[in-house]
Formats: sequence, C-alpha cells, structure tokens
Amino acid sequence: MSFTNFSQIQQAIQSGDTTLSNIVQSYIDNIEQQNEEVNAVVSIDEKGALERAQQIQERIDNGTAGKLAGMVIGIKDLICEKDKQATCASNILSNFESVYDATVVERLRDEDAILLGRLNMDEFAMGSSTENSIYGPTKNPIDTSKVSGGSSGGSAAAVAADFCTASLGSDTGGSIRQPASFCGVVGVKPTYGRVSRHGLVAFASSFDCIGPLAHSVDDAALILETIAGPDPNDNTSSSRTVPDYTEGLKNPDSNIKIGVPEEYFGEGLDEEIRKGIKDKLSELEEAGAELVPIHLPHMKYGIATYYILATAEASSNLARYDGIRYGHRADIKDVEQDLKAEQEALEKQIKQAKGEEKQKLVDELNDMDSSLIRLYKKSRTEGFGPEVKRRIMLGTYVLSAGYYDAYYAKAQKVRRLIKQDFTEAFEEVDVIVSPTAPTTAFDLGANQDNPVQMYLNDIYTISANLAGICGINIPAGTHSDGLPYGMQFMADTFEEGKLFNAAKLVEQLD
Ligand code: GLN
Repeated sequence: MSFTNFSQIQQAIQSGDTTLSNIVQSYIDNIEQQNEEVNAVVSIDEKGALERAQQIQERIDNGTAGKLAGMVIGIKDLICEKDKQATCASNILSNFESVYDATVVERLRDEDAILLGRLNMDEFAMGSSTENSIYGPTKNPIDTSKVSGGSSGGSAAAVAADFCTASLGSDTGGSIRQPASFCGVVGVKPTYGRVSRHGLVAFASSFDCIGPLAHSVDDAALILETIAGPDPNDNTSSSRTVPDYTEGLKNPDSNIKIGVPEEYFGEGLDEEIRKGIKDKLSELEEAGAELVPIHLPHMKYGIATYYILATAEASSNLARYDGIRYGHRADIKDVEQDLKAEQEALEKQIKQAKGEEKQKLVDELNDMDSSLIRLYKKSRTEGFGPEVKRRIMLGTYVLSAGYYDAYYAKAQKVRRLIKQDFTEAFEEVDVIVSPTAPTTAFDLGANQDNPVQMYLNDIYTISANLAGICGINIPAGTHSDGLPYGMQFMADTFEEGKLFNAAKLVEQLD
C-alpha cells in the first residue's frame, strides 16, 4: 500500500478501507525496506508515531480531528522537535536534543499531523547535494547513483520514496526547490517572513525560510496554510493574515500573465530542460495564459552576492557553537595537556636563548591562547565539516574591517538592485517562470571537489531569496536520462496564492 497524496489517504480512511495505524505502518515499512539505500531518514519515531495514529484515529472517528489528520510528515534535521535530536547533520550538534518545539512543528501537531522522523541534509544547510552530512549522502530514489539535491535532499527524497506524505525543508538559496526538482516533487519557498523561523537553526537569518515538500500542489498549499502566519517568537514573521490557499486552488485561473526572463533560459541550461519548459509554457498559453518577455538584468550577480551575504551571516550565526553551550566539546584534558607541553617546551627554549631571540620567545609564551580559547578552537575544528569551515572563513573575510565596504556593503547594494528588478517585473506580470536547476540530478561525488560548480546549481533559485519573494518547484517532465526535472514559478512577496495557481495549471496539464 502506497499513498501518493493526502486526499488519497483521506479517502482511504473515510471509506473505512484502512486505519491511520495501517497508513503509518506502511510508511515505516517503506523506510525499513529502502532507507538503507536512500538514506533520507536519519532517525525515526516509530512508537510515538503509532501511538499518535491511534489517538488521531479516535478523533477522526468522533469528528474532532484537525485538518492534517492522516498526514505523515518528516522534518529536516534543523527544525526543532522537543526531546528529539536536531543535529543539522553536523558533528558539532551530534549530541544535541531540542528543548522546545519549533513554531511550525507546534502548528502541524495542533492540526493532527503525525511527525514520523528526522531527515538528512547538508551540514547546517550548506550545500546542493546532501553529501556534506555526517550521516553520508542521501541518494536519489529514482536513481541511487545520483544525488538527491540539497540541502533538503532528505526531505525531497523521503517524499519521492514514499517514506512520508510530505516534509518540511528549509530554503536559504534554493534548498527546497532544487532537491524538489531533482526528486520530482513539489517544493515551496515562501516569502521571507511568511513562516516563523522560531526553532529553525539559523544559517543566514535574512534568507532562511521553512517550507513544505509534497507530492501535489494541494498538499503543499495545505501545509503552508497551516504553518504560516504571525508568531510572537519571531519578530521577522509578518502580521499579515494567511489566505485560504486551498480554497483558491479549487478553480485555478488560467488567464494569468507569466513573465519569461530571457536571462534564465540562456547558456548553461540543459537543452532538453529548456525545451520541456518552453513546451509547458506553450500549453499554458493555449489554455489562456499570456507570456510576457521580461528582463531581470541583475540576476547575473545573484550567486556572487549570495555567497558574500549568506556566508557573512553564517559566520556570525555559527559563532555560537563554542563547545560550551551547545553540542560537541573537545576533551579538555587533551587541551590542557597540549597547552602544558607547549608551555614547557617554550620555557626550556627561553632558558637557553639570549637577547632579541629570548624576548621573542617570551612574547610568544605570553601570547599563547588560554586553555579556554584552545577548547573553543579544538571543539570547532573537530565539530564542523570542510564546507562549513569554508563558509565561516569566507564570511569572516568579507566582514573584516579592511574588506567590509568592498564586499559586504557592496553586496547589500546589489541585493537591493536585484529586489528592484523583481518589483518592476511584478508590476507587469503575476508570476515569473524559470527552470529550477540547470540540469537533472548529477552523479554522487561529481561536484565534491569543485565548490564553485556546486554553487552554480542555485543560479535560478538564489535571486528569490535575495529579493525575499516566494518560489515553487513543480515537476515539469522526465529527461531522456530517466530523471525528473522541475520548473520554477516566482511571485511577489506574500503572493503564494499566485504560485499555487500557476503550479496547479502545470499539474493539470499532465
Ligand atoms: N546551495 C545553497 C548553499 O549551499 C543554498 C542552501 C540553502 O538554501 N540552504 O548555500
């Protein structure tokens, strides 16, 4: 028994064909059979999920169940669930358990969703392939020699492999949409501020967004509607009321204006993907949509701008992992022993030295890091993986006194220009279309030694994060290599309804 969307589950329960416990069990069975290979789930709460299933079944039977009753959801391992691990796929948090629920988790539970397990990701959400993980890579369930995309690769693969009905991921530069494209599922990056970040481990706070991944546009809309809205615990969350997205989907409007930016269909895009998306656009046009050529001239600076600003924010956010307050701590005895040995060696040298040389060594002794500073350094050295270290170094560099204006301040100005491009475009069109990623899922290991090539995966998704607008990946076809690819719609801030509408039109073409 496999369920590919929530309405199937609801029908099966209502008709009495099955119980919620059976449904949860069928997901657990799928995980048992396939997760060893796919590696999307890093921990599973079998007992808790089955207990919840029974409680919720009672509420379904007596008509008091919430609107997500029957939905089984996986959570990316950087969103806090009380008393569960939240490792961010990092050694530095490998022993960390959350002491509270993220707002999104609370809201899902309040509507009777069942949270089944924690999902793999790139360490601290830095990556595009879910290969930077202490758990090892998440493989693409459609072809396990390929990556699942990232950083929410576990969230996309878990949905594609039917380990859960839907999942939550996070998107800082494309981390929901790109893996959704690689695994053939729907993925939504909401407007910045639409969904509370309370309980989301921070990567780049002015970019980070939590959003849903699901099999259908309806399911994604229902989840977003549940988790969105103001939250006193996150003062960047917007006070705007949340529209009824699912109601809006009942009669999708095909007379929409779709902006087609030339810049997004140029060099570097796989030819088949380009043609596939253009074909879908022609079909939408036949159904009543108007295609409007537009320009987003600053898009070409997106990657560079993002990798300055996001790393700057990351270097500051990740400063909190000092081995004292959170997570992994290096062995203090080792640290003290090393310090003592180095001090003794220096003292010995000092005794034998003379004049200038002696003074130099004395200075060196006085300047030696204390055991506390050494403990911080050793904990961080042991705790962070290479990509995270690279980002911390990049971010620290662009924020350093001598380079701040040249990099950080300048990138902020370019961010504003990118935002301005979108504001002007949305005066003319309802949504903007683009590919989600330049290629289908690549081979495991293919981009591991080439960070810039890896960064280029986000070329089409990153601008939405820079501008704070919303975006969605909707599956658009299967490539001749057998893998799925998606197309992206972007809409202005707080216009998720327009995204869902456009995506639903594509979904209905199938
Ligand atoms: N791939 C991008 C990065 O590595 C985006 C990650 C994300 O959205 N979390 O920064």
